[in-house]
Amino acid sequence: MYNKFYRVRGRDQSITVATPGPPCMAHCISAARRVVYTAIMPELPEVETIARGLHQRLAGQRITDVWIGNKTNLLKSPARQIARVLTGARIVAFRRVGKHIVCDLDSAAGPAQWIIHLGMTGRCAVCEPGHPLAAHTHLVATLASHREMRFVDPRRFGKLQVVTGHKFRAPGQEPTTVDEDTFVALFKGRNTPIKSALLNQSLLSGVGNIYADESLFRAGIRPRRKALRITRAELLALRHSVQQVLAEAIAAGGSSINDYVDANGDEGFFQLQHRVYQRTGEPCLVCRTPIARTVIAGRSSHYCPKCQK
Ligand SMILES: [Zn+2]
Repeated sequence: MYNKFYRVRGRDQSITVATPGPPCMAHCISAARRVVYTAIMPELPEVETIARGLHQRLAGQRITDVWIGNKTNLLKSPARQIARVLTGARIVAFRRVGKHIVCDLDSAAGPAQWIIHLGMTGRCAVCEPGHPLAAHTHLVATLASHREMRFVDPRRFGKLQVVTGHKFRAPGQEPTTVDEDTFVALFKGRNTPIKSALLNQSLLSGVGNIYADESLFRAGIRPRRKALRITRAELLALRHSVQQVLAEAIAAGGSSINDYVDANGDEGFFQLQHRVYQRTGEPCLVCRTPIARTVIAGRSSHYCPKCQK
């Protein structure tokens, strides 16, 4: 059911990148292999996969040294503060909160958190010492083992931040665990298309365009229907499909975890076999009706006009 794709052209946006060194990061490639890659936002399953990979490799390690580049627009905390909190801190855990990677730290000044948002092209890589530095590397955290955790982001929509305590929360509900009543209540009285409500990060944290379209298809709900007109039974079906789609994508990612965080890992995103997303004009896998496309709140939406009401 799953396939992987490697920098497929024709998605939201493509960029050509070449770097002089050998591959270090998902998007940094040797000059001999000049390629086009796609700048799609990592969605919740990718972030979950990366956080798990970082946790497996780095939990319990101490950060001995931090280097931060001079591109400060991706720093939500001052560089000096990030360096001060990270240096000497022990990594307790990496985990996903919404679409953020959160690193719980035991620092000299007490509990703290390092918050990483990957933006469109951000990547975290665990590199062996001496591994050539990829272009667009903005932070290098050296660990007591001498391995390095590097943050690379060609387009710099990512964000790096440190906060005190272990209290960081995403703005919306966690879609993989939200209970039935809470889920239904999110959409009550909302006079907006259900697709827009699904993408509203203050309601559900981390559901992106692909998984919204796929979930609505599985639940049989048209993306443009007003949220307040959707019945409780339909919303419960939607919650089930959101959780099913995300769980399948996370499971698919688990098998490709090395591709994300190991410097020499394979490159590319995993991807569920889409049933509607970007299949405009292709036959519905259930009823053969051509998949339709519409634009809602500036985002492409794909649906089956027959299966979705
Ligand atoms: Zn159909």
